[in-house]
Amino acid sequence: MEQVIRKAYAKINLGLDVLRRRPDGYHEVKMVMQTVGIFDTLTFRRRAGEGTRPLISISVDNEELPTDGNNLIYKAAELIMRTYVIKDGVDIKLQKNIPIAAGMAGGSSDAAAVFHGLNELFSLSMSLEDMKKLGVKIGADVPYCIMGGTALSEGIGEILTPISAPPEAYLLIAKPDISVSTKFVYENLHADTLKKHPDIDGMVKALEEGSLKGITDRMENVLETVTVKKYPVIAQIKDEMRSHGAENALMSGSGPTVFGIYREKGTALKAYEEMKKKGLARQIYVTEFQG
Ligand code: ATP
Repeated sequence: MEQVIRKAYAKINLGLDVLRRRPDGYHEVKMVMQTVGIFDTLTFRRRAGEGTRPLISISVDNEELPTDGNNLIYKAAELIMRTYVIKDGVDIKLQKNIPIAAGMAGGSSDAAAVFHGLNELFSLSMSLEDMKKLGVKIGADVPYCIMGGTALSEGIGEILTPISAPPEAYLLIAKPDISVSTKFVYENLHADTLKKHPDIDGMVKALEEGSLKGITDRMENVLETVTVKKYPVIAQIKDEMRSHGAENALMSGSGPTVFGIYREKGTALKAYEEMKKKGLARQIYVTEFQG
């Protein structure tokens, strides 16, 4: 194989709970992860390894992102190529579409695409389990992104259980013009003193029953206690989505991206227009859940 093209899908959290902070600093989470139809595109090209050229080279169509060893794509490629002792080189091109530092696991999803892409390009025969085991070394969300779909995520994010997909619905996704550091949010979260925890078990049941109302009634994210306090525009966007027909709206991950869930496509499209007029966010999308 000389060239492989992969889509890297973004995720949202339909529910996000933090159970406790472990002594090693990691947080134990309980989250419902869902892939959505916003994606980056990665193109992998194989070339003969030469003495002078680096084995991995990356080009990105977005100036905000690093193209060196700090890019998660590079980290994933390096780990795989070291583990499988690959002597050939690879050129990776990233077309970025997922909002950056947004709570949509864009970087983790790109890394996950590297696992699938290099597995095919170099015929490595890695199983999904092999990829997930190696992927967690790059980041806690990478194993989920390798798998995709709807999943319950526990532990530090590496204990994954596939669960029923939500019923058909439309999503309005809006990212206000601020970047949020995941590290900052977790460091400022007081996990042990949270007064209220989301009903994640109830949401899993609602998913099994295919009840959209059961799902939207339980949408909660404890990280809002940190991010919304710092950036009130997130609450404004949620209100705006709800007042334009969303069943409910929530911040995804550590934010600042907000998603609203709509029963009808027409309502979601109308809300999109209203959101644009308001000017609360520049990156706005209408999309659907992705299997
Ligand atoms: P999460 O939901 O997992 O917290 P996020 O959406 O908050 O992710 P990302 O967009 O994945 O955040 O990236 C956060 C930071 O990681 C960026 O500021 C960027 O500099 C760095 N980064 C490294 N590689 C990538 C990549 N391929 N895509 C996006 N960001 C990357």
